[in-house]
Amino acid sequence: MKLAVVGICAWVYAVAISLSATERSAERPHLQRSSAESTATFRVAITIDDVPWHGAWPDDTTLARRTTQLQDALRRHRAPVAVFVNCRGNDPRVVRVVRQWERGGASIGNHTSGHRDLHRVPPDAWAAAVRDCDGTLRAALDRPVKFFRFPLLHQGATAKQRNIAKAVLQELGYQNAHVTIDNSDYLIAAPYRVAVERGDTAGVRAYGRLMLRHDLAAVRHFRTVSTESLGRQVSHILLLHANEMTADNLDELLGALSAEGARFISLDEALRDSAYRLEDRYSGAKGLSWLYRLQESRAGAPSPWEWDDSASAGIDTELARVLKRSGAGRAPD
Ligand SMILES: [Zn+2]
Repeated sequence: MKLAVVGICAWVYAVAISLSATERSAERPHLQRSSAESTATFRVAITIDDVPWHGAWPDDTTLARRTTQLQDALRRHRAPVAVFVNCRGNDPRVVRVVRQWERGGASIGNHTSGHRDLHRVPPDAWAAAVRDCDGTLRAALDRPVKFFRFPLLHQGATAKQRNIAKAVLQELGYQNAHVTIDNSDYLIAAPYRVAVERGDTAGVRAYGRLMLRHDLAAVRHFRTVSTESLGRQVSHILLLHANEMTADNLDELLGALSAEGARFISLDEALRDSAYRLEDRYSGAKGLSWLYRLQESRAGAPSPWEWDDSASAGIDTELARVLKRSGAGRAPD
């Protein structure tokens, strides 16, 4: 779910309206559940992309403090984590933050150097970016790493791209860290950051709530997709990003997930689920949840990722509403 789209379905309007009502009436909107919602337990691995930082990197002290904030939230909920590193040559900040995560018990994964998009750069340049980050991480940790996360979840729009990706991952001994619970909360991160910098507490609060609502809606959606496509709950893998918004709201998000039945497991454990060894049926240009990639396309059927697109559009609508109310002007892209 990495492409902004236009067009808003009725479902999103319905959710937006009910969420607005919820926001007026409750401080903890994620606790407002529909009666039909399942509270059965499900297993989920937490993963955080774009370490050291998603967006503009803060100064060293802030980067260490924000990383600690994320780690503290995970520890409070006894949630193992895997983080995916966007390397940047020999930048010492990458090494410092990677080591901080490792000291806290995180699994470390490669996310390329320079966040290279397999669909946009020549395959050789993409492969070089994977190897470069591999070298950085091996040097920082003094051991190989085993997980890889495709930037934008782009796994190859052409056979050539897919083949080179497969070969490089094999060469370096990587396991593809699939995602089942994808989301578009990264769209909220930039306006959140601006609100933090401006000291706009109402904006920070509104954007934080929007993130929680959206991420919880994504969890509920993909639990449903799992049941529909596999007949059971897969060991889920949730994608988050290392940014101010996640740092400030992770504690509440994990608490809300626990309240909905989440049991936190490691990425290693999640990937042992046999669903991750099923055939990948998708070969297009989108970055998609693994659950969508398993689905056969059916002529005339709605695209399986319709929810993603409408949820993204719903975020755009909500962002505009918050901005209008706060009068803070347009958020940066
Ligand atoms: Zn990323």
